[in-house]
Amino acid sequence: MSKQRTLLRGGTIVSMDPKIGILPKGDLLIAGDRILEVAASIEASDASLVDATNMIVSPGFVDTHRHIWQTQLRTIATDWSLFDYFVQMRSIYSGFYNPDDAFLGNHVGALEALNAGITTVVDHCHIMNSPEHSDEAVRGLQDAGIRGIFCYGLFENPENWATTPTVLKEGWRHDDARRIKQEKLSSDESLLVFGFAPTEVTATDFATGCREIEFARELGAHRISCHVSMGNYDAGVEFVRQIGEAGLMADDLLFVHGSTLTDTELSWMADHGAAISVTPETELQMGMGNPVAVRAAEAGVRTSIGIDIVSNYSGDMQGQMRLLLQAQRGIENARHAGPPREIRFKAKDVLEVSTMGGARALGWESRIGSLTPGKQADIVLTRCDDINMVPCIDPVGALVLNANPSNVDSVYVSGRQVKGGGELMHADWPVIRERVRRSSERIVNGFDSIDRRAIEDAAANLMFTDS
Ligand SMILES: [Zn+2]
Repeated sequence: MSKQRTLLRGGTIVSMDPKIGILPKGDLLIAGDRILEVAASIEASDASLVDATNMIVSPGFVDTHRHIWQTQLRTIATDWSLFDYFVQMRSIYSGFYNPDDAFLGNHVGALEALNAGITTVVDHCHIMNSPEHSDEAVRGLQDAGIRGIFCYGLFENPENWATTPTVLKEGWRHDDARRIKQEKLSSDESLLVFGFAPTEVTATDFATGCREIEFARELGAHRISCHVSMGNYDAGVEFVRQIGEAGLMADDLLFVHGSTLTDTELSWMADHGAAISVTPETELQMGMGNPVAVRAAEAGVRTSIGIDIVSNYSGDMQGQMRLLLQAQRGIENARHAGPPREIRFKAKDVLEVSTMGGARALGWESRIGSLTPGKQADIVLTRCDDINMVPCIDPVGALVLNANPSNVDSVYVSGRQVKGGGELMHADWPVIRERVRRSSERIVNGFDSIDRRAIEDAAANLMFTDS
C-alpha cells in the first residue's frame, strides 16, 4: 500500500537546509512519516492538498530542556529566585504530586508545546515519587504524540506529603529507571526514547555523579541531562572539567544552563560532541549569569535552547528565541564604546539554534531540524495574515520577532497532523482543562498547609555559605 501523501502548497518555505534555503513561494510533499520533496512547484495528484498560502512553512522547534510535570503550577514561580524554586518547587510542591498529577502535567505540557510548534522536547523528569509516577509521566508524553527524550530523574523528592508514604526500598529509582527503559522505552527509533537525569551534581559528591553517568550508559540512555555551571550557585565546582578529567566526556551528555562554563570546559565539550541546552529566561531571572549560547557555539559546542519551567514562563520557543537574541545583543552592544554600527547576532542565528541546533544536540541531525527530503515530517505552518504578522517582508524575522503560538496554524509530527486550523487535534481540551484546574488546586492547597521555615533554613545553609 502506498504511503499517505500530503502536499503543502504555496507557502513561504524557511527550510533551515542550506542547500534549499528560503523559497518565497514553494511546495512541500509529505509521504508517510517523511518529507519527500521540497521545491518551488510539485505535482502530486494523488496527495491531499493543504493550502499554505500566506503561511510560513518551517521545521518543528526542538526544546532540549523542560521539566514538563510543572505545567499545572503555571505562574507559581513568577517572582522566584533559584532559592525559592529549590525550597518551594523541589522541596514542597513536588511532594504533593500523585501519579495522575504527573500524567496531567506531562500530557498538557506536551500539548502546549505542540500547540506552539515545538515538535521535539527533552523532558528532564524529576517527579518520580513512585514507579506509578514514572509510568504516568511517560504515558502523558506518548498520548500527546510528541517526539522527544524522557530523561528519568533520580532526584529524591521529599516524602509524599499528600498520601501515606509508599514503602519503597532505598535506591528504588535505579531499578525503576531500568524497568522504564526495558518495558516502556526500549527502542531508540520510537517517537519517545529513554534518557537519564542524574541527581543534581551540586547535591551529591563527584563520585556519585560519575557512578550515575555510568549507570545511565549501562541502561543505554540516549542522552544524559545535567544542570551545571549556574553562576554563583555552584561557583568553583566545574563539574564539566571534572567529567572531562575523569574520562567520562562523550556525546551523550546534554549539559543545561552552563552560563559560567570556562573556555577549557567548552573546549572539552566541543572535542567530545557534548551539547549545551541554554535556557535564557531561567538564567536571566534566577541569577545564573548571561546565556552561554554564543560563547558555546563559537567554541564549536552543539548549542540548543530549552524552556525549562512553565511554572514560570510561557512554554513556547518564539518567546525564548526573542529573549536570547535580544539578551545577547544587549551584552554585545554594551561592549561598544559608542553606538554599534552593526548588529552581529542575527535572527537567523537564533532560529538555527532552535531547530538544527536542537537536532544536533540530540544526535538527531539526520532525522529532524530542517525541511530536508528524507527527514521526518516535523513541520510547522505559521499564519502570516494575522494582525501581528502583516506584512511578512522577512519571514525569518517574522518567526523570531513577531510570531507567537496563536499564529501557529498547523503542526505535523512524523507526518501526523496534531494541529490544524489553529486548533489542537486528538485532544479533548475542555475536559482536560478541568482536570488540570482540579489537580492544580489540590497541589496548591497542600503547599499552603506546610510550614516551610525549617525547609528554608536548611536550604539557606546549603546555598548561602555566608548566611
Ligand atoms: Zn532545569
